[in-house]
Amino acid sequence: MPGSFSLAVELVTARGVVTAERSRALVDKARALADDPRIDVLSITDNPGGHAMLAPDTLGTDLLSRGQEVIIHLACKDWNRNALESRGWKLASEGFDNVLCLSGDYPLAGYGGSAAPVFDIDSIGLLKLYSDMNAGLHVARSGERLERTNFFLGCVVTNHKLHEREVVPQYQKLAKKVRTGARFVINQIGYNARKDDELLRYIARENLSVRPLANVFLLSRPAARAFNAGRIPGVIVTEELLALAEQHGGGADKGRSFFLDLAAKQVAVARGLGFSGAYLGGHATAETFFEILDRASAYADDDWRELSRELRFGRAGEFYLFEPDPETGLSSDELSGKYLESRRRRRTDLRVPLSYRFSRVVHRTVFDPEGSLHEPARSLYEKVDAAPKPVGRAAHLVEQAAKVPMFKCRDCGDCSLPDIAYVCPESICAKNQRNGPCGGTRDGLCEVYDTECIWSQAYERLKAYGEEQEMLDNPVVLKDNALARTSAWANALLGRDHQAKAGEFSG
Ligand code: SF4
Repeated sequence: MPGSFSLAVELVTARGVVTAERSRALVDKARALADDPRIDVLSITDNPGGHAMLAPDTLGTDLLSRGQEVIIHLACKDWNRNALESRGWKLASEGFDNVLCLSGDYPLAGYGGSAAPVFDIDSIGLLKLYSDMNAGLHVARSGERLERTNFFLGCVVTNHKLHEREVVPQYQKLAKKVRTGARFVINQIGYNARKDDELLRYIARENLSVRPLANVFLLSRPAARAFNAGRIPGVIVTEELLALAEQHGGGADKGRSFFLDLAAKQVAVARGLGFSGAYLGGHATAETFFEILDRASAYADDDWRELSRELRFGRAGEFYLFEPDPETGLSSDELSGKYLESRRRRRTDLRVPLSYRFSRVVHRTVFDPEGSLHEPARSLYEKVDAAPKPVGRAAHLVEQAAKVPMFKCRDCGDCSLPDIAYVCPESICAKNQRNGPCGGTRDGLCEVYDTECIWSQAYERLKAYGEEQEMLDNPVVLKDNALARTSAWANALLGRDHQAKAGEFSG
């Protein structure tokens, strides 16, 4: 409801059948939360941390039947686009409207070994699919439009990051998610009110029509240690906060009162800052969550400004989009002078390789429809296409001889190199993210590999040309798997790849 402050609580399902002891305890907790009129919505995770758990729908169905509003998480790591669509029809048929669209954590474990990551599409691809289902999915073969669904779609943003090349792309991706149909956003766990404020100011500045929910995760000493060690992708606990967690966690109550207070302060500050709601998570009983809400409601309306001073666990050298407000220490509406200056000077933190500069020239000359060699190249590939197969195979070999050493090309046939400043999402991105970075970067490094995230690299390369602001302005990219092991050059020149679809897809 616009203007109101909603409260959501996250439920993490257990591994095993719903009748097992752990799941029964979760069902009891969920029912207790549902019975409290302060809780507006219960949000159920989908194999979090890359581990197999009971599917969220099982618990969700029980809650729906009790009239409880439910958010179902749906991550692309375990499902391809057909399975996600099928899940969509199932969810819509069962009455689930609220879906949180995620790329998901990289799978870590599984039966008999690690599971194969899917990432056929990413969170933006999923938002696009479900938005198209809301509009009536177009079936190409029959020309019919399927009955509309009624999804209220959500997304996440991970803005508690260290570098400009991580923070700005996260915001750009949020804007793209909203353009693609996200109506609510939950920020990743963090303990820095200035960053939370920054997110709201970015949303206002870009006029994004989205309801932001502030993540309030109930810390404990073990959780603080895990977050500080970087064991949960995208979640930061600074040394300063860890020291407090250690100090209080060593007390008689194991820090219970301190951690509850911290969460209560986060709720009060989120309300004061102007979030649409708070999103409570953590390993706690329903009664513990109620206690957090009781403590939060004990604060007076104006207390949040002072409380926000206690929630400033930033890191040295952390990038902020806006200048600080000297009075509150939170964000102002003025863009950071240092940031503007670095944009003006096109100052990059990473080296821009010569191969990128060369690739830009080739792209502009050959693949850009306005390029001087575009027409001859197109007509050449028309002839190659019509020639006997060995000619096409020879042309494909030449292409691979150039692209494999330069880009570690995996021959997907639907090339996104021009979308990502000539960094390959197939070979260098563990999650094949073609519409912007996932939330898992570790101070610029990939969540999975010890290399710089492809989108951090792309941001820096584009910044050298003053083009980084438009990095994610392109239409939604969905890779067409039918093009695998075919010539990407031919597919680009002859209008068969995603560029020709310009973000318009049918089933
Ligand atoms: S390269 Fe970037 S987007 Fe891809 S998995 Fe790694 S951190 Fe995520």
